[in-house]
Amino acid sequence: MINGAKSGPHALIVACQHGREVSGFAAAVRFCQEIDPGKTAGTVAVVACMNPLAALLGRQAWNEGFERETGPAQKTNPKRNGITIPPLDVFDYDTDFNLNRLWPGKTGDSLANRIVHEVWENAVLGIEPKPSLVVDIHCHDFPSAIYACDASALSLGLLSGLPVVYETGGVGDASLEGACRKIGIPRVLTAELRGNGCAPAQSICEGVGMLFNLLKAEKMLAGELSLPGKVLVIKPWGGAAPRISKEPLSHTVEALHDGILALEKAPLEKVRKGDVIARILDPESGQTLQTATALATGHLGNLHTEVAKIKKGERICRIDTVAKWISPAEAR
Ligand SMILES: [Zn+2]
Repeated sequence: MINGAKSGPHALIVACQHGREVSGFAAAVRFCQEIDPGKTAGTVAVVACMNPLAALLGRQAWNEGFERETGPAQKTNPKRNGITIPPLDVFDYDTDFNLNRLWPGKTGDSLANRIVHEVWENAVLGIEPKPSLVVDIHCHDFPSAIYACDASALSLGLLSGLPVVYETGGVGDASLEGACRKIGIPRVLTAELRGNGCAPAQSICEGVGMLFNLLKAEKMLAGELSLPGKVLVIKPWGGAAPRISKEPLSHTVEALHDGILALEKAPLEKVRKGDVIARILDPESGQTLQTATALATGHLGNLHTEVAKIKKGERICRIDTVAKWISPAEAR
């Protein structure tokens, strides 16, 4: 808790709801070390690591001791005592222990629900005045970005200093952002720093810079914002939020074979229809099994970068066809 020397608004920073998303945790810790309470107006509450057990396990969620039944991999999660048990896949969010699907939490339930409830009661509702700014920091395998669910989040996202803003068109009801919006908190932002399961220097720097920028925009700190010349604003998923709506299949490039994916483009790189994005190689023969090309002109979204091995039917990338560059200074 950072109590500023001057009175002012209340901001809340939350990071690492998902255990592999540790850059946000590292950025929040460094931010707390660097901020000067003597020059701060108002109160900043920081929950630097919402999910320390999952972080230590290197998994997105901790299953609280519910072990998966032995047997072959299952597509849907097995249920025991009414609780969805996470599969072994560290990337799976679809479990009852995903903190960002439980807000505002509840008592007398799973530990995940109780953690969320405690933070909600104490850090969101428990401080006067109610927060005017909430920042929820996640991580993904692509350049650092803001997920903006509406026009006001886009405007604020442009002031974050991050290089990319996704116009998602919506937000999950039981996410921290969704719950905060429901009680009328005016400025709520979800950030995704680059890198899962690791905390690279660039990602931490971007996270710290974002927090200082947003507190300056909130007039809790004095000084100029540090902003890039232009920000790439992308409308992915046909304008609907991830995991709320299915992305248009026509823009998804799929693997037709199992193999090793050798990339020829970088995440978010602009491609033209027909450009080679990647090749799938057979590790035994060295033969090219598939030359994956762009189905349309656009930017490469969700490029398969986290691991090189790929299975038939998995997504190589999505082509985001709706994108523009915006100058944050001009947009202010
Ligand atoms: Zn996350």
